[in-house]
Amino acid sequence: MIIDPGESNPHEEPCLACGEETAIGSVFFSDRHAGELPDGSRAFLCSECLAKARSVAGLERDCDTGALHSAASVYMMSYIS
Ligand SMILES: [Zn+2]
Repeated sequence: MIIDPGESNPHEEPCLACGEETAIGSVFFSDRHAGELPDGSRAFLCSECLAKARSVAGLERDCDTGALHSAASVYMMSYIS
C-alpha cells in the first residue's frame, strides 16, 4: 500500500479493526460491513475482519444477517474505548 508522506489518515472509510480502506473503489468495498458507533458516527469492517468477527462469535458462514451484524457490532466495540 502506498501512503503519502505527511498524510495521517489517507483512507476515507478505513476498517475499524485493521485500518484497510473500505471505501467505494477499494477491494473491500463490496463485502464490507457498515455499522454505527454509540456516538452515531459510521464505522466499517473489511471482509476479512468481518469474517473474524463471525468466527469470534462462533457463527456459521451462512448465519443470518441479523446475527452477523450483531457480531460485527460487538467486534467493532472491542476496537473503541
Ligand atoms: Zn479489516
